[in-house]
Amino acid sequence: MPASAPLMSTYARLPVAFSHGDGPWLFDTDGRRYLDCLAGIAVNTLGYNHPRLSAALREQLGRVIHTSNLFEIPLQTRLGQMLVDRSAMTNAFFCNSGLEANEAAIKLARLYGHKRGIEKPEIVVYEKAFHGRSLATLSATGNTKVQKGFEPLVEGFVRVEINDLAALRTIAAERPNVVAVFLEAIQGEGGIRPATEEYLREVRALCDAQGWLLMIDEVQCGTGRSGKWFAHQWAGIVPDVMPLAKGLGSGVPIGAVLAHGVAAEIFQPGNHGTTFGGNPLAMRAGVTTIEVMEEEGLMDRAAHLGAAIMSEIARGMADTGGLVEVRGRGLMIGIELDRPCGELVPMALAAGLILNVTAERVVRLLPPLIFEQAHADLLVERLLPLLRRVVSTPPPGKA
Ligand SMILES: *Cc1c(COP(=O)(O)O)cnc(C)c1O
Repeated sequence: MPASAPLMSTYARLPVAFSHGDGPWLFDTDGRRYLDCLAGIAVNTLGYNHPRLSAALREQLGRVIHTSNLFEIPLQTRLGQMLVDRSAMTNAFFCNSGLEANEAAIKLARLYGHKRGIEKPEIVVYEKAFHGRSLATLSATGNTKVQKGFEPLVEGFVRVEINDLAALRTIAAERPNVVAVFLEAIQGEGGIRPATEEYLREVRALCDAQGWLLMIDEVQCGTGRSGKWFAHQWAGIVPDVMPLAKGLGSGVPIGAVLAHGVAAEIFQPGNHGTTFGGNPLAMRAGVTTIEVMEEEGLMDRAAHLGAAIMSEIARGMADTGGLVEVRGRGLMIGIELDRPCGELVPMALAAGLILNVTAERVVRLLPPLIFEQAHADLLVERLLPLLRRVVSTPPPGKA
């Protein structure tokens, strides 16, 4: 039997299991307490056992969990309206995960192309992007590790580097079948790499000039994590299509794709659908997450706590020479070191801190948005000595 039976060997798991959580704290089965700076990979917006969310979900469980999209679902309309009111979108489609939201966006872009008479529509995607693990979304992803072994990939994607406007202009000049540009406002898995505000504005202008849809994957950087509802809002632009997931349900599986303008009218009955998507339980989680975020002022707090954490880390690492860059926005932070630093994950765990390393050298912090100043202080206090220890020897390959 494979080593991890009865489960498939899809994950290299850390040997810790959590029994419960409280606010930003997780408790393992031995009763040890950890400060959570990952939030289940940008999912647990309200941390653990938030009294408002727990009560709302319990109440919903006592009413109805699922009915299917064969019927009206008032909570879907309610969450859709809440999202529309906080973006410049007009219509929502609900699903269950990030890849599903992105898959819907890709289908929408293709249908848009066909409606314009383009038989083989192409979508511009990005190096280091991550959009999910379905065949279409892994094909759109800019990481060969995610794709290897699953060829033939889905065709119809052309790839450029983030923040390289010239490359995009070349595509505009040379590829008449392009129908959409699809990017993360801040690349997450790729190492917390933001599209610059200027780039986003230029891409918006180019999409307008070309008749392309601008589709911004806000699955990780959206739902308030950046300090605004959606990270692209920092650039003052409006996308045509916006997939959401991760943090929207504070831990209950949920996905959504929002659209406005011509993009909002592309799907017609029969074009797309889902059994579970938009079920009352997930919708209640989304509605309550947004309500609590506003009542508790979590976005403003994310913006200023994030800025403070980033400057403290940069200051505390300045004399080491091992820090390449601290970047991100709000509570979506990447600390790029001059070397691979995967060992930081178990080191942090031993120090009572849950974090993640992505793109080999980037320490990724995605704490729950209920983080307070004291939690941010403790994060810095626990993390800095570990970072300093990792960079205290010459990097491999350097004399
Ligand atoms: C996590 C992620 C996805 C995939 O979401 P799943 O829910 O795992 O399918 C897609 N896009 C981005 C930007 C993500 O961070």
